[in-house]
Amino acid sequence: MGRSAANWSVTCIWLDDPKHKNAAHSWSIPYATDPEMEKNPFARSIECNVCRKEFSLFEGVKESFKSENPFVMRDFEFNARAIGTTTIVAGLKKDFRLQDKFAGRPEVYLTPQSPVIVAPALIHASGFSILSSSAGEAHTSANHTINWLVYGNYDDLSVPLWRRLLSDSKSHQARGEHRSEIVALESGVELFISEHLQHALQAKGVHQTTIDWVQRRGIEEKCSIWLREANGKSLSDVDQKLHSRWIKDLKKVRDAVVHKGKEVSSEEAIKARDAAISVIVNVCPKALLHFRIGQVERRIEAESSDKTD
Ligand SMILES: [Zn+2]
Repeated sequence: MGRSAANWSVTCIWLDDPKHKNAAHSWSIPYATDPEMEKNPFARSIECNVCRKEFSLFEGVKESFKSENPFVMRDFEFNARAIGTTTIVAGLKKDFRLQDKFAGRPEVYLTPQSPVIVAPALIHASGFSILSSSAGEAHTSANHTINWLVYGNYDDLSVPLWRRLLSDSKSHQARGEHRSEIVALESGVELFISEHLQHALQAKGVHQTTIDWVQRRGIEEKCSIWLREANGKSLSDVDQKLHSRWIKDLKKVRDAVVHKGKEVSSEEAIKARDAAISVIVNVCPKALLHFRIGQVERRIEAESSDKTD
């Protein structure tokens, strides 16, 4: 295992195409430094592996961010991912130690290469164990090759707080808790706007006392007057329809959850995810970089301990 390389998770936006029936919808593409993409993720064209139609990098990542697929969700919940292979003896516990500790409990997935029953167990911030039992065929070899996959979060300061809130929204989504998901999504968007204004107004030489005052204004005023001051364009100058969609599909839904305990359906949650990532990337196209898989690059080797029992 080397470094966890950064990838984009993309999903085709043409899933109605008959070629997508019983075929893959999502895949990941390696991240390569691409100054054109960083300026304009809306322009770079990707061809779908399945239907061969084209869409932009932003559209593909947005479709993945909206996805209900549990593996695609994980790509946005965690900032690091590791994949490896090991050999186990059926019936014996095998312990793994990860070189770097995660912030919290990672998710572990196991795929055996031959018939054997396996489960991850004793998962903690710096390791996990594999439990196994033979799948009934007494004459099969006791040794089995297992592919393992670990998703986790590093408590890395290079990941901004707004992005961590979006990771939280994905943990809620994975548990089907759409009300908490909506609250985390809108908090992530509002914090992103505040952090963006902080940097952009500072860069324009605006006095910190004024910036502090701006930060106490309401989010709608920040997105109109103050974004225009910072970027030259308010959110509705960039895209009037997007501004309205954000209010209707995300902000008002969040308000209704917080004030009235409103239930949120998965259809509403999908629209809210669309509004959240669209507002963020339209305000600052470079923010799309924070939606890569494996944002944090660090060694993530797992070693099996000598002892099996
Ligand atoms: Zn396609």
